[in-house]
Amino acid sequence: MSIDPAVVARLKETVGAKGFTEDPQDIAPHLLEWRGKYRGRSPLLLKPQTTAQVSQILTICNETRTPVVPQGGNTGLVGGQIPFNDEVLLSLSRMNQIRRVDADGMSVVVEAGVILADLQRAADEADRYFPLSLASEGSCTIGGNISANAGGVNVLRYGNMRELVLGLEVVLADGRVLDLLRTLRKDNTGYDLKQLFIGAEGSLGVITAAALKVFPKPVERVTAFVAVPDVQSAITLLHRLQGATGGLLSAFELMPRLGLEMVLAHIPQTAEPLASPSRWYVLLEASSGTAGNLQSTIEQALASAVQDGTVADAVIAGSEAQRTNLWRLRESLSEAQKYEGGSIKHDVSVPVAAIPEFLARGIAAVEVLISGTRPVPFGHLGDGNIHFNLSAPKGGDNAAFVARWEEINRVVHDIVHAFGGSISAEHGIGVMKRDEILRYKSAAEIETMRALKRALDPNNILNPGKVIAI
Ligand code: ZN
Repeated sequence: MSIDPAVVARLKETVGAKGFTEDPQDIAPHLLEWRGKYRGRSPLLLKPQTTAQVSQILTICNETRTPVVPQGGNTGLVGGQIPFNDEVLLSLSRMNQIRRVDADGMSVVVEAGVILADLQRAADEADRYFPLSLASEGSCTIGGNISANAGGVNVLRYGNMRELVLGLEVVLADGRVLDLLRTLRKDNTGYDLKQLFIGAEGSLGVITAAALKVFPKPVERVTAFVAVPDVQSAITLLHRLQGATGGLLSAFELMPRLGLEMVLAHIPQTAEPLASPSRWYVLLEASSGTAGNLQSTIEQALASAVQDGTVADAVIAGSEAQRTNLWRLRESLSEAQKYEGGSIKHDVSVPVAAIPEFLARGIAAVEVLISGTRPVPFGHLGDGNIHFNLSAPKGGDNAAFVARWEEINRVVHDIVHAFGGSISAEHGIGVMKRDEILRYKSAAEIETMRALKRALDPNNILNPGKVIAI
């Protein structure tokens, strides 16, 4: 499917000479998903600089039934940001102004193309803290974070991106601008429309700006790497530490021994953090707005956990450099897995209390299906969100292993569903899980999603074929 040259000409005129490219070399990086899993096609990349330009673009596209794929930092994991059918590609990267940092109002207003790390820095400079933190923070954008309802490592304390959004500016499919850019903490004036666009992956409107919460800057921060004998002990420790600190844990990340070994084998500047190996580890972090006794509280709680066998061993970071080293063990897990051959991934959640049983059943099921497969389940234990990743058998046939991706997904997702869980905890649906959600959501839920899509995008021009097929 190609775009009518007359439409292309109108779109180019809308954004001006600096606002578009048709050069395949310039467009190419926007078409390839960063792990190489998806490759798309688009003849035209638009880079508007203002909300008015986005409005004009969608007006033209809606009138002419020209499909559009919005794109942030192209760091998504489910193919939501990739144009597969020669759609117009709409990058918000030039809309990267931090419009306002309101330290007294504890809020910021930013454009969709602002890079997450730049927002973190701007908040920091105003003596405030923006808590969303994830591996791609150096290149992912706020618009993408909102469209995907990003999670990351601080959800336990501060919530998903959805919880951080106070207001949005959204361009609707027909070009009208929906100004919901309020910074109110309380607003019960009917339907909370902004929620529709959070996690909608650009299928209901194009987010152009957002009002977001910021928080007091942590003053004392404690980071610990803890060996636990089993996953149930990790959950016991989670609740004990939340009790002891009054809910100050911000991260509580699970890692298996095999994952740590992969990191130690492949990632430079890593070292065994504890004296003797353990089957499971937790990387935890807590922070407080006042300096004083957080570290001693955590030290005491860990010491009593060692005494009763809940914890085998633990180390607390004594410096910022040690903290960075401990986090590197957790954050390079996905990269380390790449050096160990093919992997089949899942991004699932179950109620926190069900995690030990889910892991036991999930691991047993995949080991029966693929003899020698190496499960490396890790992730956000405090949120009930496990990246249930499997590495190919050592020395096995990688291609044959990865070819079983969907078959294995199905088995794992059925187990997740039996625990009342979700088959996409934080990565979204995109194209990867579009058909898979039909299996797990009720007919009423799917029909309500389709009704929303039809109401907001009757001509199906916004990221067609993503999230929900109509
Ligand atoms: Zn994650």
